[in-house]
Amino acid sequence: MKILNDAINHFGKKKQIAKVREELLELALAITRYESDCSIENGYEVCDECADVEIMIAQLRMMTDPKLINDRKKFKLNRLSERIAKESK
Ligand SMILES: [Mg+2]
Repeated sequence: MKILNDAINHFGKKKQIAKVREELLELALAITRYESDCSIENGYEVCDECADVEIMIAQLRMMTDPKLINDRKKFKLNRLSERIAKESK
């Protein structure tokens, strides 16, 4: 997506990597609040921070190794599938 590439070029990799960490922390905090109070407002915050994290993860993929991420994701999803199959017996 062009806007993600524009963001990396405009702000620089170092700043965008720090931004990934910042957004992950904001999502973690929103989830913590939601765990103790499932209010509409706290649910909205989780969704809002999720959107931020998805935008930053998409940039992180572009700045690192998308093929390796895809390979590791495939491996982990297969492992999860096997675990569920095993525990469902
Ligand atoms: Mg945020």
